[in-house]
Amino acid sequence: MTSSAPEIQQIVDAIRGRQRFVLSSHFRPDGDSIGSQLAMAYALRALGKDVVVVNADAAPPPLMAFPGVPDIRIAPAIDGDFDAAIIMECGDIGRTGVAGLDRFFVINIDHHPGNTGYGRINWFDAGAAACGEMVFDLVRALGVKLSLEIATHIYLAILTDTGSFHYSSISTRTFDICHEALDAGVDPVLVARNVYDSNNMGRLKLFGAVLSAMQIDGTGRIAIVYLDHEMAREAGGTYEDTEGLINLPLTVKEIQAVVFFKQAEGEEYRVSMRSKGNIDIGAVAKEFGGGGHKNAAGCTVNGAIDALQKLLLEKIEQAIDGRPVSR
Ligand code: 5GP
Ligand code: MN
Repeated sequence: MTSSAPEIQQIVDAIRGRQRFVLSSHFRPDGDSIGSQLAMAYALRALGKDVVVVNADAAPPPLMAFPGVPDIRIAPAIDGDFDAAIIMECGDIGRTGVAGLDRFFVINIDHHPGNTGYGRINWFDAGAAACGEMVFDLVRALGVKLSLEIATHIYLAILTDTGSFHYSSISTRTFDICHEALDAGVDPVLVARNVYDSNNMGRLKLFGAVLSAMQIDGTGRIAIVYLDHEMAREAGGTYEDTEGLINLPLTVKEIQAVVFFKQAEGEEYRVSMRSKGNIDIGAVAKEFGGGGHKNAAGCTVNGAIDALQKLLLEKIEQAIDGRPVSR
């Protein structure tokens, strides 16, 4: 059931021969980046290794309830010396937002299409529904027992990165691993409650404001959501509170894709996109210099918001109709 990639053995050998590890993942971490890093951290510590986890940004508040998350170091650069850097969930080393990782022996573990192969060892598996699935295989290969902490973080990674078991990336392997996680003592009800049912009121109000302003394209298949700093202030929420909001329009039967514009500064916008089934929204993100997966992707764009929306909508329509997405 586990992957038999030759890179796994290379990584096992590299870990066995080293002592001090720094772990990192992408800025604005999500459940898969946090879960993958901490599952790996607990596994390495079980082998007697020294481990520091360093991220550019703090974990989303609901994830603070999970073991080890409050101890993650938040820093823009690496301080100290390490024998290896294990970077998970990053298609490019720049996505860590942490400077200095490239000084060390880099082990790159990722499932994003288009990974640039920036490591000394590169293990890339686009078939993994979450990077956490790959970490599971590695924990096995290292001969480490699936402790409750490790199993919890792997389950967290899978639950969140599959959009609560919604995306087409799911395979039998996904459920086999979840089965093992539950055997190791993971309580899926408790995990779901911590991830999805521990928000603040500002977040709910912000969801209300953003969804009230939602637009639907002429074909009735694409939802366009928008947020700027003023809307967030008025609703009493923050940008961090929008985590998960993008999935809500997809609950409408006719909606095939969602595009969420978040004003960064002036005319710069962060764009998140989601799609159903076979619609390759990752190809759309790539057209605009971003990336991601078939059903979840993003990019950063600059310009007048009306023109940007029109441009993105055209590409998304092409993706829905199964036409090649190109300019
Ligand atoms: P989100 O919409 O949650 O920010 O991102 C969804 C997925 O797309 C994640 O897997 C994330 O790694 C990827 N993604 C989002 N924005 C970018 C981007 O600007 N560049 C790349 N390469 N991937 C992105
Ligand atoms: Mn992921």
